[in-house]
Amino acid sequence: MARRPARNVHDVRKPYHAMLEQEIGPDGILWDVATLFLVNRECPFRCLMCDLWKNTTEAAVDAADIVAQVEAGLAQTGPGRAVKLYNSGSWFDPKAVPIEAYEPVARLVAGFERVIVESHCAFLGERAEQFLILLRRYNPSVTLEVAIGLETVHPEVLARLNKRVTTADFVAAAGWLRMRGMALRSFVLLRPPFLTEDEGLEWAKRTIELAMSVGSTFTALIPVRGGNGAMDALRAAGDWAPPSLASLEAGLRHGLEETSRLPHQRITADVWDISLFSDAGDAESEAIIERVNRMNIEQK
Ligand code: SF4
Repeated sequence: MARRPARNVHDVRKPYHAMLEQEIGPDGILWDVATLFLVNRECPFRCLMCDLWKNTTEAAVDAADIVAQVEAGLAQTGPGRAVKLYNSGSWFDPKAVPIEAYEPVARLVAGFERVIVESHCAFLGERAEQFLILLRRYNPSVTLEVAIGLETVHPEVLARLNKRVTTADFVAAAGWLRMRGMALRSFVLLRPPFLTEDEGLEWAKRTIELAMSVGSTFTALIPVRGGNGAMDALRAAGDWAPPSLASLEAGLRHGLEETSRLPHQRITADVWDISLFSDAGDAESEAIIERVNRMNIEQK
C-alpha cells in the first residue's frame, strides 16, 4: 500500500465512467451493453495486481448515492440488452453496496435482459440470492451473471496474488451459481507476476480451460498492466513484465478453439487499455489489435 500512487477523487452521485459498448451476447450476436463503473468503498482483498482501488473511496458510500450513480449512468448510456454494474470490487460486499440499494437498482435495470455484476467468491451467499429475487420481481426473465476473478490456476502464483482464493473455491462458486440459475463470467489474467512470457501464456490457456470446463458462459482474458505501485516494483525487480500483444492474440485464439467445442461459451481479450501494450512495433501492434478486435466480435 505504501507504494500506491494517489487515488482519484470522484463525485459519489455519478459513476466515474459509463459507456454503451458492444459485446458478443449469449445468442452469438452483438449486444449493446450499458457499462457503469461505480464509485464505492474499496474492496477489502487488496490483490497484488489490482489497480481498481484507484477509483474507490475510503469511506462507505450511501445506498442513495449508489442508486443515483446507476440512474445517472443509465441516463448517459441509454438502453441496451445487458447492463454491467461494475463497482471495483464485489457487488455483494455489504461495505461496498448497502443492501438498501438493491431494490431501487433492480427497478432501474428492469429493462435489461442480463445484469452483470462482479464478486469475489467469498461474497457469494444470501445477498446474491436476494438481489436475484429483486431483479426477477421487475423482470421475471432476467439473467443475473456474476463475474469472478479466477485470475490463474497456477497454485503458487494465485497464492502470491493475495486474492485469498483457490481454484477449488472458484469451482465451488461456479457450482453455487449454476444451482441458483445464475450465469458465470470469468476473468483470467495473462501473465501475472512471477512467470515468464511463455509461462504466462501457457497458464492463461490452462486457466481459460478450467473456467470453461465449469460452465463459464463468458471468459475475459485480461493482460496484466502496471501502474499500481506494487506491479512497478515487481517489474523493477525483474519479477514481472507486461505481456506481449502476440501472447494476447495467442491466448484468445486458444480460447476460441475451446469455445468451438463448447456451445454457448464466449471469450474475449480485454482491449480497454490496449494502447499500453505496443511491444511489437507500431505497425504490427496495430495489425494485432485489429485482429483481436475482430476475433472478439466474430468469435472465430
Ligand atoms: S478481489 Fe478484485 S477488486 Fe478486490 S482487490 Fe482483488 S482484484 Fe481488486
